[in-house]
Amino acid sequence: MKKLIYFPIIIISFNFSFAQDYFLENFGPYNENIQSPEEFLGYEIGDQHTRHDLILAYFKYLSSVSERANLINYGKSYEGRTLTLLSISNEENLKNLEEIKTEHLKSTIPGSIKTINENLPIIINLGYGIHGNEPSASEAALLTAYTLIASKNKKINRLTTNSVVFVDPTLNPDGRDRHSQWANQYKSINLVADSNDAEHNESWPRGRTNHYWFDLNRDWLLAVHPESRGKLNWLHEWYPNVVIDVHEMGTNSNYFFDPMKSSASVKPLIPQENVDLYPIFAEYYVKYMDSIGSFYYTKESFDETYPGYGSTYSDLQGGLALLFEQASSRGHVQETNYGEMTFGFTIRNQFLNGIATVEAAVDNKILLRDYQKRFFETSLSEFKNEKIKAYEFGDIYDKNRTKAFIDKLQIHKIEVYEKDDKFIVPVNQLQSRMVKNFFETHDKYLDSVFYDASAWSVANFYNMKHKAVRSIDVNKLTKVKEVLVNNPKVSKSNYAYILDWDDYNTPAALNHLHKNEVISYSAYKPFSIKVNEDDDVKSFNRGTVMVPVSKQKVDSEKLFEVVKSSQEKFNLPVFSTETGYSSAGIDLGSNFFRINKKVKVAMLIGDGVSSYEAGEVWHLLDTRVHIPLTKIRLNQFNRISLDKYTTLVMVSGSYNQISESGIKKIKDWVGKGNTLITIGSASSWAIKKEVVKESLIETKNDTIFSRKRYIDAREYSGRERIGGSILKVDLDLTHPLAFGYRDQSIPIYKNNNVFLNKSKSDYSSVAIYSKNPHIDGYVSKKNMENNLKGAASLIVSDSGSGRVVLFADNPNFRGSWYGTNKLFLNAIFFGANISVPK
Ligand SMILES: [Zn+2]
Repeated sequence: MKKLIYFPIIIISFNFSFAQDYFLENFGPYNENIQSPEEFLGYEIGDQHTRHDLILAYFKYLSSVSERANLINYGKSYEGRTLTLLSISNEENLKNLEEIKTEHLKSTIPGSIKTINENLPIIINLGYGIHGNEPSASEAALLTAYTLIASKNKKINRLTTNSVVFVDPTLNPDGRDRHSQWANQYKSINLVADSNDAEHNESWPRGRTNHYWFDLNRDWLLAVHPESRGKLNWLHEWYPNVVIDVHEMGTNSNYFFDPMKSSASVKPLIPQENVDLYPIFAEYYVKYMDSIGSFYYTKESFDETYPGYGSTYSDLQGGLALLFEQASSRGHVQETNYGEMTFGFTIRNQFLNGIATVEAAVDNKILLRDYQKRFFETSLSEFKNEKIKAYEFGDIYDKNRTKAFIDKLQIHKIEVYEKDDKFIVPVNQLQSRMVKNFFETHDKYLDSVFYDASAWSVANFYNMKHKAVRSIDVNKLTKVKEVLVNNPKVSKSNYAYILDWDDYNTPAALNHLHKNEVISYSAYKPFSIKVNEDDDVKSFNRGTVMVPVSKQKVDSEKLFEVVKSSQEKFNLPVFSTETGYSSAGIDLGSNFFRINKKVKVAMLIGDGVSSYEAGEVWHLLDTRVHIPLTKIRLNQFNRISLDKYTTLVMVSGSYNQISESGIKKIKDWVGKGNTLITIGSASSWAIKKEVVKESLIETKNDTIFSRKRYIDAREYSGRERIGGSILKVDLDLTHPLAFGYRDQSIPIYKNNNVFLNKSKSDYSSVAIYSKNPHIDGYVSKKNMENNLKGAASLIVSDSGSGRVVLFADNPNFRGSWYGTNKLFLNAIFFGANISVPK
């Protein structure tokens, strides 16, 4: 086929234009008092990429003109865009929405339903556009909302009578607008289908991700961003029976819908009954796609192993979550291997499958509600007889990290209890499956190729020490409503202040001191000293920040104000002392207190650099440490001087754009006493380009050749890729990069095949993989034996008067690795004081 559809460019202003018919013809007649998306926007759907503010305006309009729609706002994106849902149902249902909700939620409360209420509408959430540059989704949302609201067709009326549909048009509005702007600005009057055209080739960082370049379709478990947090709150308010998550994939593909590849988990937490629902829904998609001659596939790819996808999360909440993947026209029309594909064609598939979903859900509403009821019943019964009854956790040295972890449990409605200074999570609760996701680890899988990570035990992300408990009586425990970190208020000192580096927030407080020109030192050895008015002796770990009163440029009053405000802002343990004499360890005047130098941090970004990892650094420094990070695009790099920066971050990337003279520039700058921090493949780059003299572990090639089946090639090569696993490393706690840690053994996240040999220097391999490093996730035997045993995860290597901190593994993964963030922040704050002993 040369052209899949004929798509006229002229806007026709009466009600049923040809273009509108292309989408809407089977669902008429329509209420003439309600404007179609085309009439409202002034262009045909598919003719432009619709900005989020226009989508929002249209939804507001629908809500104002129709009794069948109500607008709900559930948050704001980082760039201030409103996150919104339109609830759609018939007039009567919307009037009784609160009663419907109460009745519906009974299926989430075991024992509260005797017989299924057959008249109760089914609850559906149509979610669109979590990946901003997969634009057909949100355009389809406009058509779907319009059809459900304005159609007078009997079939549609039956659907809206029997359902409440919540349409979420733009799950990621910041990314959406980044891409829409791109596609619209490069669009020609004479459409250019040539795939080489700029319209089809978005520039870095592209619109897939949110403001900080995070993939929001991995954030449903980790709940870092306002987009996910707002939506998670809504999901737990409604527990929809059906959720769809609408995507795009490669231009030369066709269309994908569920069922997907089966889970790689040995014992999947998603019930088989849920999996059995997919073929029932698939029949509807088959019917709609066959009727318009659209091609598709199922079963072969994608999987539900990772619980943080939009197409998985609601499966763990008693709903049915479905994935749709449409081949992308990426732009308004693009050539493919089989002719040209228009934007309109991609939108139509998504639109029809949205309607098909509502139809499937309505036809199966009793089955779905009955399933949800059983899901929550089995949440209480399924794991009841398992040996592990609860998990106990808590870190008394770092209350802010503990608080952040509890926040993650609670956003998923996991019940947390406390007893003394320990927290307890019982397994046997309505969110038992989520409890397992947070604490259980795995080493056996049915598959070795994963669509994403194979490890997500969130407790390990937070380096949250925990133990399994075999008997528990919740009646003797107190349920935690909200975690308050109550550190005693610092009192004024005439001698010195002490800020405990063990706390997650102390780097932010140190940055606050730097900003206010406060002089501070850090302890390179532990000490115990009398603190506060009551003269209690307190022990302090390495890294502890000491602020001497007499050495400041400001008077003691002003200093107290700054110290006090740093505590108020970041809620960390701060103490005052009136003496420099320690009862144990170093005194405050010791040379093992080193002055903290002010830092100015830059990071290289642009083509070839992992936008995810760069975004993680930006997000960490901007939102948690409050450091203004300078982001330098690689195409500017030749023109700028590095001299004003103390620290340069290079995350995983190819860095092909850096020329020989650029490499020399970095080397010279490091040589002057500065700190280069490299992560993942940037560490390999620094070694290969001889910025440092360290070495990579050479992968040994097999000398005995084997023969395998052609079809299995992907499986075999996939096996050796470390897609995301949690490993144990052994830390040198005396090294400045490990300050603030108390356990020699901590979990790290590995999702690359960067393997560093131990350093040439005896004192520089700060973290090496433990003898038996596996904690969670899939790692091949070959990688374990040949590449990980005895290898280094974190090295500092000197170069002139400066140093390069080489992270083999990403310490900032997905904004969630609270447990390893401090290694990275130590490199920033203490880098200038790290030398490599000879
Ligand atoms: Zn996607």
